[in-house]
Amino acid sequence: MNKLTLRDLSADELRGRRALVRVDYNVPLDERQQVTDDTRIRATLPTLERLAEAGARIILLSHLGRPKGKRVPEMSLRPAAQRLAEIFDRKVVFVGETVGEQAEAATHDLGAREVLVLENTRFDAREEKNDPALSQAMALLGDLYINDAFGAAHRAHASTAGVAEVMRGDGRLAVAGLLMERELEYLGRALDDPRHPFVAVLGGAKISGKIDVIQALLPQVDHLLIGGAMANTFFRAMGLDTGRSLVEEERVELARQLLESAGEKLVLPVDAVVAQRVEAGADTRTVDREQIPGDWMAVDVGPRTGEVYRRVIAEAETVLWNGPMGVFEVPEFTRGTEGVARALAEATERGATTIVGGGDSAAAVAELGLSERMSHVSTGGGASLEFLEGRTLPGVAALSDGDARREA
Ligand code: ADP
Ligand code: MG
Repeated sequence: MNKLTLRDLSADELRGRRALVRVDYNVPLDERQQVTDDTRIRATLPTLERLAEAGARIILLSHLGRPKGKRVPEMSLRPAAQRLAEIFDRKVVFVGETVGEQAEAATHDLGAREVLVLENTRFDAREEKNDPALSQAMALLGDLYINDAFGAAHRAHASTAGVAEVMRGDGRLAVAGLLMERELEYLGRALDDPRHPFVAVLGGAKISGKIDVIQALLPQVDHLLIGGAMANTFFRAMGLDTGRSLVEEERVELARQLLESAGEKLVLPVDAVVAQRVEAGADTRTVDREQIPGDWMAVDVGPRTGEVYRRVIAEAETVLWNGPMGVFEVPEFTRGTEGVARALAEATERGATTIVGGGDSAAAVAELGLSERMSHVSTGGGASLEFLEGRTLPGVAALSDGDARREA
């Protein structure tokens, strides 16, 4: 990666310094304001541990939810700070302000190896506008900047891009954290230099959200396996009857063009699990793709498809998976998704590189207890898609270039 990372900095450069770290603590909270899934908090521990070991003072900025520029008490970062205090063996304090006198004073009061969590960046309407005044105010909170929020890197906001530019502008460093670095390495290698056979598995609800990814990946992959509702749009393009399945009518023509240009690389399901209702307890049938009944919906890939996909994945050296194969939230329709997840876990064990991107896919893998058996599960949904499309992420672009420093 052509950007400076935390690993490029010596302990001397960090000791006693105020490290302003943008993290992605956009965690789910229940009605009692308890964190129900702390994956994103745990994912930042390597960066925090490294900073603490070097003797830095650690200041965290994050957004949570969509408060739309107003103070919404239910979206406070305090519960996230509390959870961090439970799992990170250092003093953690919380201040209910994002920028300003109180926040700034708290950064100076902080001791080495201590952590300060500031309030939700999106309580300030200027955050999402990447407002220079807010970026300036944030830049007062640290001596250097570290971006470890891969999941927010596709947004040019004050806390992800603006503050980094201000810091760099006056000679301070803006570097990638260890989680950010890991994400960029895994996804970057899949795009630039994958080991072959390289297999991509794409599913989920919509073809429209992933069409650019399909186009970007097609030249790189050996096989592109399609599942989820997006398969239905391809079925329609092949002239098949899809009953009441979820289909994006306005993308059928696009699907037709993709089928033509992709040739044999693009692999579609041969059978489907169909149901009349998308809910637990619904009657299901397994049918060939030519036989989807008029008032039924395709809600999962069928067992023959599962077997074909398993065999293709079993030969792969790199597998990139984004989007569940079916409506995995309903127990009756999880089998296709589970089959792909297990095939990836087995591939990892025999030495293949397996990467899971996308919020719902990551959730499915976690539910199956298979997260640890993947080479990498991305913490960024939208960000990983934009990265795979080949787009520049503003939160990465804003960081200090690696070359200048390493050559100096
Ligand atoms: P990710 O978050 O992993 O990128 P998406 O958000 O694109 O995945 O898609 C996930 C959603 O797709 C899930 O909520 C799932 O229920 C839905 N889905 C998958 N297959 C189907 C299908 N055949 N019909 C309707 N919805 C589907
Ligand atoms: Mg999703």
